[in-house]
Amino acid sequence: MNRTDDKALLSLSHVSIAYGSIPAVADVSFSVEEGEFFCIVGANGSGKSTLIRGILGLTPLTKGRVDLRTGLEGTAYVPQVEGTDRDFPATVWEIVLTGTQRRGWRVPFYTRADKAAAEAALSTFEIADLAGRRIGKLSGGQMQRVLLARAMCRWPKLLLLDEPCSGLDEESRRAFYVLLARLHRERRTTIVMVSHDLDEVAERASRVAVMAQRLLFVGTPEAWRGGAWKASSFDSEGVPAFVEVPA
Ligand code: ADP
Ligand code: MG
Repeated sequence: MNRTDDKALLSLSHVSIAYGSIPAVADVSFSVEEGEFFCIVGANGSGKSTLIRGILGLTPLTKGRVDLRTGLEGTAYVPQVEGTDRDFPATVWEIVLTGTQRRGWRVPFYTRADKAAAEAALSTFEIADLAGRRIGKLSGGQMQRVLLARAMCRWPKLLLLDEPCSGLDEESRRAFYVLLARLHRERRTTIVMVSHDLDEVAERASRVAVMAQRLLFVGTPEAWRGGAWKASSFDSEGVPAFVEVPA
């Protein structure tokens, strides 16, 4: 094993995922190293969410292998929010507190330490004043901070975010990225973020993986923007061949 592999928190090797006979992710391989801010970008329907769920074991792989060295305990996940399904009558405090629970616990039971962790997360993500509010009454930006606080209650080493800024206005986006940057810098959280907007992530990501069912490119945003990928050959369907540009 070389040095790069030693530092990898997450490795994917020839991962394919299909829904029945319909392929969604085809032969994807890459590694994410500790401390990275790694972005998976691609158009809608390119398999990004499927891949993230595959990494977490929520969707079975058809082929290949995922090595998640942080384990599920050391990993947090903020799923893509579909529409506005927020009628659930829970408060911000209740939602954040559920983030302290280990998987597989059927009946929530919160210790004093759990409550302290949830309180700390409320304050870190600047939503302490919203603790008693029903989640249905929050703005998109506030809800996204609640989901982040919930995910970060146990201070995982690896945070997976699926399109966290979709539906947020410009100001909320900026505020959200400030929080993410702080997590990345101060807590040294490794971040894997899905986005359909390369321009938005380019200035923040250490590397990007560009997907179109297959992986088209892995490397720095500069290399992608610099057109390194354009040198690649195209297959019979006009899809560019995969290019890897070292960081
Ligand atoms: P992205 O997140 O990049 O928009 P998805 O991973 O959500 O892409 O979807 C990839 C492809 O898989 C799409 O064609 C989508 O319609 C299909 N797909 C996603 N989820 C399911 C599912 N549960 N059952 C069947 N097909 C699905
Ligand atoms: Mg998606």
